[in-house]
Amino acid sequence: MAKEWAKRFYNGKRWIRCRDAYIQERILIDGGMCEECHKNLGYIVHHEIILSPENINDPDVSLNHDHLKYVCKECHDQYEGHGVGHGKVRPLCIFDEDGQPISLRECDRTPPVPEKGKTGAGDRPPR
Ligand SMILES: [Zn+2]
Repeated sequence: MAKEWAKRFYNGKRWIRCRDAYIQERILIDGGMCEECHKNLGYIVHHEIILSPENINDPDVSLNHDHLKYVCKECHDQYEGHGVGHGKVRPLCIFDEDGQPISLRECDRTPPVPEKGKTGAGDRPPR
């Protein structure tokens, strides 16, 4: 479900070379362990900045090692919009009332409060 502009980037030599260099760097540092859980071997290089058609061609964003993370598949699948094979398409970001984009990764860390504990009979009309 990768977008066309993203596919072009991920299949490009610049990214493949950058990714390989980053993996080599991680292997030198800690043997290439996942940077999130440090338990599994890294599997995929993740962009900390969610790529968009506007920033994907900016090497400071898309090819900058400072913004990359080498993570295992499990951890990578936790990132919103990045998991492959979930069968669900999720938006990469949402917008607040002012039209400012909000990264879903922050939302990921603070899941919405479940409605289970809700009390008060007047909330819902009876069926
Ligand atoms: Zn991990």
